[in-house]
Amino acid sequence: MVYDFIVMGAGMAGASAAYELSQNATVLVIEAERQPGYHSSGRSAALFTRNYGTALVRKINALSEPFFKSPFEDFVEGPLLRPRGALAVAGPGHEGKLDAVLAAATPEDPVFEITPAEALKMIPFLRAENVTRAAFEPGVTDIEVATLLGAYLKGFKRRGGQIKTGEPVTALTQSSGTWEVTTSKETYRAKKIINACGAWADEIGELAGAARIGLVAKRRTAIIVEATPGYDVSALPCVDFAANDAYIKPDAGKLMVSPGDATPTPPQDVQPDEMDVAVLADWLERETLIPVRRIAHSWAGLRSFVSDESPVVGLDPLVPGFIWHAGQGGYGIMMAPALARAVASLAQDNKLPTDFSAITITADDIGPARLAIKIHERN
Ligand SMILES: Cc1cc2nc3c(=O)[nH]c(=O)nc-3n(C[C@H](O)[C@H](O)[C@H](O)COP(=O)(O)OP(=O)(O)OC[C@H]3O[C@@H](n4cnc5c(N)ncnc54)[C@H](O)[C@@H]3O)c2cc1C
Repeated sequence: MVYDFIVMGAGMAGASAAYELSQNATVLVIEAERQPGYHSSGRSAALFTRNYGTALVRKINALSEPFFKSPFEDFVEGPLLRPRGALAVAGPGHEGKLDAVLAAATPEDPVFEITPAEALKMIPFLRAENVTRAAFEPGVTDIEVATLLGAYLKGFKRRGGQIKTGEPVTALTQSSGTWEVTTSKETYRAKKIINACGAWADEIGELAGAARIGLVAKRRTAIIVEATPGYDVSALPCVDFAANDAYIKPDAGKLMVSPGDATPTPPQDVQPDEMDVAVLADWLERETLIPVRRIAHSWAGLRSFVSDESPVVGLDPLVPGFIWHAGQGGYGIMMAPALARAVASLAQDNKLPTDFSAITITADDIGPARLAIKIHERN
Protein backbone atom coordinates (compact mmCIF):
# COMPACT_ATOMS: atom_id res chain seq x y z
CA MET A 1 0.00 0.00 0.00
CA VAL A 2 1.15 3.56 -0.71
CA TYR A 3 -0.10 5.89 2.04
CA ASP A 4 -0.83 9.52 1.27
CA PHE A 5 1.34 10.46 4.27
CA ILE A 6 3.72 8.84 6.70
CA VAL A 7 4.23 10.87 9.87
CA MET A 8 7.52 10.08 11.63
CA GLY A 9 7.37 10.63 15.40
CA ALA A 10 4.39 10.27 17.75
CA GLY A 11 4.99 13.10 20.19
CA MET A 12 2.47 15.94 20.36
CA ALA A 13 3.59 17.32 16.98
CA GLY A 14 3.27 14.02 15.10
CA ALA A 15 0.07 12.87 16.81
CA SER A 16 -1.75 16.17 16.23
CA ALA A 17 -0.57 16.42 12.60
CA ALA A 18 -1.64 12.83 11.93
CA TYR A 19 -5.08 13.56 13.36
CA GLU A 20 -5.56 16.58 11.07
CA LEU A 21 -4.17 14.83 7.96
CA SER A 22 -6.30 11.71 8.44
CA GLN A 23 -9.51 13.67 7.99
CA ASN A 24 -9.21 13.17 4.23
CA ALA A 25 -6.06 11.12 3.58
CA THR A 26 -4.52 7.73 4.39
CA VAL A 27 -1.90 8.16 7.11
CA LEU A 28 0.61 5.93 8.88
CA VAL A 29 2.46 7.11 12.02
CA ILE A 30 5.82 5.53 12.79
CA GLU A 31 7.26 5.97 16.29
CA ALA A 32 10.68 4.75 17.45
CA GLU A 33 9.64 4.18 21.07
CA ARG A 34 7.10 1.65 22.28
CA GLN A 35 5.06 4.46 23.86
CA PRO A 36 3.90 7.64 22.04
CA GLY A 37 4.86 10.81 23.93
CA TYR A 38 7.86 9.14 25.60
CA HIS A 39 10.26 12.03 24.91
CA SER A 40 9.61 15.82 25.21
CA SER A 41 5.83 15.58 25.03
CA GLY A 42 5.69 13.41 28.15
CA ARG A 43 8.12 15.59 30.11
CA SER A 44 6.72 19.12 29.83
CA ALA A 45 5.49 21.53 32.48
CA ALA A 46 2.06 21.34 30.83
CA LEU A 47 1.36 25.07 30.85
CA PHE A 48 -0.53 27.24 28.39
CA THR A 49 1.11 30.68 28.63
CA ARG A 50 -0.17 32.72 25.76
CA ASN A 51 2.36 35.50 26.40
CA TYR A 52 5.37 33.15 26.18
CA GLY A 53 7.83 32.73 23.30
CA THR A 54 8.78 34.79 20.24
CA ALA A 55 6.26 37.21 18.72
CA LEU A 56 5.43 34.53 16.13
CA VAL A 57 5.00 31.84 18.80
CA ARG A 58 2.60 34.11 20.69
CA LYS A 59 0.48 34.56 17.58
CA ILE A 60 0.39 30.77 17.12
CA ASN A 61 -0.50 30.27 20.80
CA ALA A 62 -3.45 32.60 20.26
CA LEU A 63 -4.59 30.53 17.25
CA SER A 64 -4.46 27.36 19.38
CA GLU A 65 -6.47 28.79 22.26
CA PRO A 66 -9.99 28.41 20.80
CA PHE A 67 -9.40 24.68 20.23
CA PHE A 68 -8.14 24.20 23.78
CA LYS A 69 -11.14 26.06 25.17
CA SER A 70 -13.76 24.30 23.04
CA PRO A 71 -12.45 21.27 21.17
CA PHE A 72 -14.68 19.54 18.63
CA GLU A 73 -17.54 17.49 19.95
CA ASP A 74 -16.49 13.86 20.60
CA PHE A 75 -12.77 14.82 20.56
CA VAL A 76 -12.30 14.59 24.30
CA GLU A 77 -14.26 14.17 27.52
CA GLY A 78 -13.64 16.93 30.05
CA PRO A 79 -11.64 20.14 29.77
CA LEU A 80 -8.19 20.43 28.18
CA LEU A 81 -7.29 23.54 30.21
CA ARG A 82 -7.54 24.15 33.96
CA PRO A 83 -7.12 27.54 35.66
CA ARG A 84 -3.69 28.14 37.22
CA GLY A 85 -2.38 31.73 36.98
CA ALA A 86 1.28 32.72 37.16
CA LEU A 87 3.02 34.95 39.65
CA ALA A 88 6.36 36.45 38.63
CA VAL A 89 8.59 37.62 41.49
CA ALA A 90 11.86 39.54 41.64
CA GLY A 91 14.18 40.10 44.57
CA PRO A 92 16.60 42.94 45.41
CA GLY A 93 18.53 44.09 42.32
CA HIS A 94 16.34 42.19 39.85
CA GLU A 95 13.16 44.31 39.97
CA GLY A 96 13.74 45.68 36.44
CA LYS A 97 13.40 42.19 34.99
CA LEU A 98 9.66 42.32 35.60
CA ASP A 99 9.32 45.19 33.10
CA ALA A 100 9.46 42.65 30.26
CA VAL A 101 6.82 40.45 31.93
CA LEU A 102 4.47 43.44 32.29
CA ALA A 103 5.20 44.66 28.76
CA ALA A 104 4.06 41.28 27.34
CA ALA A 105 0.51 41.92 28.55
CA THR A 106 -2.24 42.03 25.93
CA PRO A 107 -5.93 42.92 26.32
CA GLU A 108 -6.72 39.19 25.97
CA ASP A 109 -4.06 38.14 28.47
CA PRO A 110 -3.41 40.92 30.99
CA VAL A 111 -0.51 41.03 33.47
CA PHE A 112 -0.91 43.17 36.61
CA GLU A 113 1.72 44.57 38.94
CA ILE A 114 0.85 43.58 42.53
CA THR A 115 2.52 44.49 45.82
CA PRO A 116 5.08 42.16 47.44
CA ALA A 117 2.63 41.77 50.37
CA GLU A 118 -0.08 40.56 47.96
CA ALA A 119 2.40 38.15 46.38
CA LEU A 120 3.38 36.70 49.77
CA LYS A 121 -0.27 36.25 50.65
CA MET A 122 -0.81 34.42 47.38
CA ILE A 123 2.22 32.11 47.85
CA PRO A 124 2.99 31.53 51.53
CA PHE A 125 6.21 29.59 50.89
CA LEU A 126 8.07 32.63 49.48
CA ARG A 127 10.69 34.40 51.66
CA ALA A 128 9.67 38.03 52.19
CA GLU A 129 13.25 39.30 51.80
CA ASN A 130 13.40 37.76 48.29
CA VAL A 131 10.27 39.47 46.95
CA THR A 132 10.59 43.19 46.27
CA ARG A 133 8.47 43.34 43.11
CA ALA A 134 5.73 41.08 41.72
CA ALA A 135 3.38 40.70 38.75
CA PHE A 136 0.41 38.38 38.24
CA GLU A 137 -0.85 36.85 34.98
CA PRO A 138 -4.25 35.25 35.62
CA GLY A 139 -4.69 33.78 32.10
CA VAL A 140 -2.01 31.07 32.43
CA THR A 141 -3.60 27.61 32.57
CA ASP A 142 -2.57 23.96 32.99
CA ILE A 143 -2.92 21.77 29.91
CA GLU A 144 -4.13 18.17 30.29
CA VAL A 145 -1.25 16.91 28.14
CA ALA A 146 -1.82 13.15 28.43
CA THR A 147 -5.53 13.64 27.71
CA LEU A 148 -4.72 15.79 24.66
CA LEU A 149 -2.17 13.34 23.24
CA GLY A 150 -4.53 10.42 23.88
CA ALA A 151 -7.42 12.26 22.21
CA TYR A 152 -5.36 13.04 19.10
CA LEU A 153 -4.27 9.40 18.76
CA LYS A 154 -7.74 8.04 19.46
CA GLY A 155 -9.30 10.42 16.93
CA PHE A 156 -6.61 9.51 14.40
CA LYS A 157 -7.34 5.79 14.75
CA ARG A 158 -11.09 6.45 14.56
CA ARG A 159 -10.46 8.13 11.20
CA GLY A 160 -8.73 4.98 9.96
CA GLY A 161 -5.14 6.01 10.80
CA GLN A 162 -2.56 3.37 11.64
CA ILE A 163 0.36 3.55 14.05
CA LYS A 164 3.52 1.46 14.37
CA THR A 165 5.46 1.83 17.61
CA GLY A 166 8.90 0.51 18.58
CA GLU A 167 10.11 1.01 14.98
CA PRO A 168 12.79 3.68 14.53
CA VAL A 169 13.05 5.02 10.98
CA THR A 170 16.51 4.08 9.70
CA ALA A 171 16.46 4.99 5.99
CA LEU A 172 14.51 7.23 3.60
CA THR A 173 14.64 6.94 -0.16
CA GLN A 174 12.51 8.40 -2.91
CA SER A 175 11.87 7.10 -6.40
CA SER A 176 9.25 8.06 -9.00
CA GLY A 177 7.47 10.33 -6.54
CA THR A 178 7.10 7.67 -3.83
CA TRP A 179 8.96 7.64 -0.52
CA GLU A 180 10.24 4.39 0.96
CA VAL A 181 10.47 4.64 4.73
CA THR A 182 12.55 1.85 6.21
CA THR A 183 12.35 1.06 9.91
CA SER A 184 14.09 -1.51 12.08
CA LYS A 185 11.35 -3.96 11.01
CA GLU A 186 9.87 -3.10 7.61
CA THR A 187 9.68 -0.74 4.65
CA TYR A 188 6.56 1.39 4.16
CA ARG A 189 5.59 3.62 1.22
CA ALA A 190 3.99 7.05 1.01
CA LYS A 191 3.53 9.95 -1.37
CA LYS A 192 4.69 12.48 1.25
CA ILE A 193 6.46 12.19 4.61
CA ILE A 194 6.24 14.42 7.68
CA ASN A 195 9.27 14.85 9.93
CA ALA A 196 7.91 15.23 13.48
CA CYS A 197 10.89 13.64 15.21
CA GLY A 198 11.44 16.35 17.83
CA ALA A 199 15.11 16.60 18.85
CA TRP A 200 16.01 14.11 16.08
CA ALA A 201 14.47 16.17 13.25
CA ASP A 202 17.82 17.18 11.70
CA GLU A 203 18.98 13.53 11.70
CA ILE A 204 15.77 12.54 9.88
CA GLY A 205 16.28 15.45 7.47
CA GLU A 206 19.74 14.13 6.65
CA LEU A 207 18.31 10.66 5.92
CA ALA A 208 16.02 12.34 3.38
CA GLY A 209 18.88 14.33 1.83
CA ALA A 210 17.60 17.68 3.14
CA ALA A 211 19.80 20.51 4.45
CA ARG A 212 19.94 20.75 8.25
CA ILE A 213 17.79 23.44 9.88
CA GLY A 214 20.33 23.93 12.69
CA LEU A 215 18.23 22.44 15.47
CA VAL A 216 19.75 22.57 18.96
CA ALA A 217 18.18 20.39 21.67
CA LYS A 218 18.42 21.93 25.13
CA ARG A 219 18.05 19.95 28.34
CA ARG A 220 15.61 21.18 30.96
CA THR A 221 15.51 19.62 34.44
CA ALA A 222 12.59 19.23 36.83
CA ILE A 223 12.07 17.74 40.29
CA ILE A 224 8.99 16.95 42.35
CA VAL A 225 9.10 17.76 46.07
CA GLU A 226 6.59 17.61 48.91
CA ALA A 227 4.90 20.92 49.65
CA THR A 228 5.00 22.54 53.10
CA PRO A 229 3.32 19.96 55.40
CA GLY A 230 -0.33 20.64 56.08
CA TYR A 231 -0.68 23.16 53.27
CA ASP A 232 -2.85 22.43 50.22
CA VAL A 233 -0.97 23.79 47.20
CA SER A 234 -3.22 22.44 44.47
CA ALA A 235 -4.99 25.74 43.73
CA LEU A 236 -1.90 27.97 43.95
CA PRO A 237 -0.57 29.75 40.86
CA CYS A 238 2.84 28.82 39.53
CA VAL A 239 5.73 31.10 40.46
CA ASP A 240 8.37 32.37 38.02
CA PHE A 241 11.59 33.74 39.50
CA ALA A 242 12.73 36.63 37.32
CA ALA A 243 16.34 36.51 38.52
CA ASN A 244 17.19 33.11 37.03
CA ASP A 245 14.28 31.64 34.98
CA ALA A 246 13.46 29.08 37.71
CA TYR A 247 9.82 28.20 38.32
CA ILE A 248 7.62 26.25 40.70
CA LYS A 249 4.31 24.70 39.71
CA PRO A 250 1.79 22.79 41.82
CA ASP A 251 1.54 19.22 40.54
CA ALA A 252 -0.92 16.69 41.98
CA GLY A 253 -0.61 18.01 45.55
CA LYS A 254 3.17 18.32 45.33
CA LEU A 255 5.42 20.95 43.72
CA MET A 256 7.27 20.70 40.43
CA VAL A 257 10.43 22.82 40.45
CA SER A 258 12.65 23.61 37.47
CA PRO A 259 15.76 25.80 37.29
CA GLY A 260 14.71 26.81 33.78
CA ASP A 261 17.99 25.38 32.44
CA ALA A 262 18.74 25.14 28.72
CA THR A 263 21.89 23.05 28.29
CA PRO A 264 22.68 22.08 24.67
CA THR A 265 22.55 18.27 24.53
CA PRO A 266 22.72 15.77 21.63
CA PRO A 267 19.35 14.08 20.91
CA GLN A 268 18.92 11.21 23.37
CA ASP A 269 16.75 9.76 26.15
CA VAL A 270 17.95 12.59 28.34
CA GLN A 271 18.29 12.13 32.10
CA PRO A 272 18.71 14.77 34.80
CA ASP A 273 22.26 15.63 35.76
CA GLU A 274 22.82 14.82 39.47
CA MET A 275 24.67 18.06 40.07
CA ASP A 276 21.85 20.11 38.48
CA VAL A 277 19.37 18.39 40.83
CA ALA A 278 21.53 19.02 43.92
CA VAL A 279 22.04 22.69 43.01
CA LEU A 280 18.30 23.08 42.40
CA ALA A 281 17.38 21.56 45.79
CA ASP A 282 19.86 23.88 47.49
CA TRP A 283 18.48 26.91 45.62
CA LEU A 284 14.92 25.97 46.60
CA GLU A 285 15.77 25.86 50.31
CA ARG A 286 17.56 29.21 50.15
CA GLU A 287 15.01 31.00 47.96
CA THR A 288 11.82 29.68 49.60
CA LEU A 289 10.51 28.25 52.88
CA ILE A 290 10.06 24.77 51.33
CA PRO A 291 12.10 22.20 53.27
CA VAL A 292 13.51 19.69 50.75
CA ARG A 293 13.34 16.46 52.76
CA ARG A 294 12.98 14.14 49.78
CA ILE A 295 12.95 14.49 46.02
CA ALA A 296 9.99 12.35 45.00
CA HIS A 297 10.92 12.30 41.33
CA SER A 298 13.29 14.03 38.93
CA TRP A 299 13.44 14.10 35.15
CA ALA A 300 14.82 16.02 32.21
CA GLY A 301 13.47 16.71 28.75
CA LEU A 302 14.71 18.30 25.54
CA ARG A 303 13.40 21.57 24.12
CA SER A 304 14.59 21.92 20.53
CA PHE A 305 15.20 25.32 18.97
CA VAL A 306 16.39 26.71 15.65
CA SER A 307 18.27 30.02 15.56
CA ASP A 308 15.20 32.30 15.65
CA GLU A 309 13.38 30.13 18.25
CA SER A 310 10.21 29.88 16.16
CA PRO A 311 8.80 26.58 14.84
CA VAL A 312 9.76 25.04 11.50
CA VAL A 313 6.68 23.86 9.63
CA GLY A 314 6.39 23.34 5.90
CA LEU A 315 7.70 21.80 2.70
CA ASP A 316 11.42 21.37 2.31
CA PRO A 317 12.59 23.81 -0.40
CA LEU A 318 14.72 21.21 -2.19
CA VAL A 319 13.44 17.73 -1.32
CA PRO A 320 9.99 17.11 -2.84
CA GLY A 321 7.38 15.55 -0.57
CA PHE A 322 9.46 16.06 2.60
CA ILE A 323 7.67 18.19 5.18
CA TRP A 324 9.14 19.60 8.41
CA HIS A 325 7.21 19.82 11.67
CA ALA A 326 9.97 20.60 14.16
CA GLY A 327 11.62 23.23 16.39
CA GLN A 328 8.71 23.58 18.82
CA GLY A 329 11.08 24.68 21.61
CA GLY A 330 9.35 25.17 24.94
CA TYR A 331 5.94 25.78 23.36
CA GLY A 332 5.10 22.60 21.44
CA ILE A 333 2.14 21.55 23.54
CA MET A 334 0.36 24.90 23.42
CA MET A 335 1.11 25.47 19.72
CA ALA A 336 0.06 21.93 18.72
CA PRO A 337 -3.58 22.50 17.73
CA ALA A 338 -2.77 25.45 15.43
CA LEU A 339 0.45 24.00 13.98
CA ALA A 340 -1.22 20.65 13.26
CA ARG A 341 -3.79 22.45 11.10
CA ALA A 342 -0.98 24.43 9.46
CA VAL A 343 1.15 21.41 8.58
CA ALA A 344 -1.88 19.50 7.24
CA SER A 345 -2.96 22.43 5.09
CA LEU A 346 0.56 23.03 3.75
CA ALA A 347 1.09 19.32 3.07
CA GLN A 348 -2.24 18.93 1.27
CA ASP A 349 -2.87 22.30 -0.40
CA ASN A 350 0.46 24.12 -0.10
CA LYS A 351 -1.18 27.00 1.77
CA LEU A 352 -1.77 28.03 5.36
CA PRO A 353 -5.23 27.98 6.99
CA THR A 354 -7.07 31.29 6.67
CA ASP A 355 -6.77 32.18 10.37
CA PHE A 356 -2.97 32.21 9.93
CA SER A 357 -3.12 34.54 6.91
CA ALA A 358 -5.69 36.71 8.69
CA ILE A 359 -3.09 37.64 11.32
CA THR A 360 -0.34 37.96 8.68
CA ILE A 361 1.57 34.75 9.37
CA THR A 362 3.03 33.58 6.06
CA ALA A 363 4.34 30.18 4.96
CA ASP A 364 7.81 31.77 4.74
CA ASP A 365 7.61 32.89 8.40
CA ILE A 366 7.35 29.31 9.62
CA GLY A 367 8.92 27.42 6.70
CA PRO A 368 12.35 25.75 6.61
CA ALA A 369 13.75 27.86 3.74
CA ARG A 370 14.31 30.83 6.10
CA LEU A 371 16.86 28.74 7.99
CA ALA A 372 18.73 27.38 5.00
CA ILE A 373 19.30 31.01 4.00
CA LYS A 374 20.51 31.97 7.49
CA ILE A 375 22.83 28.96 7.74
CA HIS A 376 24.21 29.77 4.25
CA GLU A 377 24.81 33.43 5.29
CA ARG A 378 26.65 32.33 8.44
CA ASN A 379 29.07 30.04 6.57
C1 LIG B 1 10.85 20.47 31.06
C2 LIG B 1 10.02 20.92 29.88
C3 LIG B 1 8.95 21.77 30.09
C4 LIG B 1 8.13 22.15 29.02
N1 LIG B 1 7.03 22.90 29.29
C5 LIG B 1 6.18 23.19 28.28
C6 LIG B 1 4.97 23.88 28.56
O1 LIG B 1 4.66 24.20 29.71
N2 LIG B 1 4.13 24.16 27.51
C7 LIG B 1 4.43 23.79 26.22
O2 LIG B 1 3.64 24.08 25.31
N3 LIG B 1 5.57 23.13 25.94
C8 LIG B 1 6.45 22.81 26.93
N4 LIG B 1 7.59 22.13 26.66
C9 LIG B 1 7.94 21.86 25.26
C10 LIG B 1 7.17 20.69 24.69
O3 LIG B 1 7.26 19.57 25.56
C11 LIG B 1 7.78 20.33 23.32
O4 LIG B 1 7.85 21.48 22.49
C12 LIG B 1 6.94 19.29 22.59
O5 LIG B 1 6.69 18.18 23.43
C13 LIG B 1 7.63 18.83 21.32
O6 LIG B 1 6.84 17.82 20.74
P1 LIG B 1 7.43 16.93 19.58
O7 LIG B 1 6.34 15.99 19.19
O8 LIG B 1 8.04 17.79 18.57
O9 LIG B 1 8.66 16.12 20.24
P2 LIG B 1 8.69 14.75 21.02
O10 LIG B 1 7.62 14.66 22.02
O11 LIG B 1 10.09 14.56 21.51
O12 LIG B 1 8.36 13.68 19.90
C14 LIG B 1 9.27 13.31 18.89
C15 LIG B 1 9.10 11.83 18.66
O13 LIG B 1 9.89 11.42 17.54
C16 LIG B 1 10.32 10.11 17.80
N5 LIG B 1 11.47 9.77 16.95
C17 LIG B 1 12.73 10.26 17.01
N6 LIG B 1 13.50 9.68 16.09
C18 LIG B 1 12.72 8.80 15.42
C19 LIG B 1 12.95 7.88 14.38
N7 LIG B 1 14.16 7.73 13.81
N8 LIG B 1 11.92 7.12 13.93
C20 LIG B 1 10.67 7.25 14.50
N9 LIG B 1 10.40 8.10 15.50
C21 LIG B 1 11.42 8.85 15.96
C22 LIG B 1 10.69 10.14 19.27
O14 LIG B 1 10.75 8.86 19.83
C23 LIG B 1 9.58 11.01 19.85
O15 LIG B 1 8.51 10.24 20.36
C24 LIG B 1 8.43 21.71 27.70
C25 LIG B 1 9.50 20.86 27.50
C26 LIG B 1 10.28 20.43 28.56
C27 LIG B 1 11.41 19.47 28.31
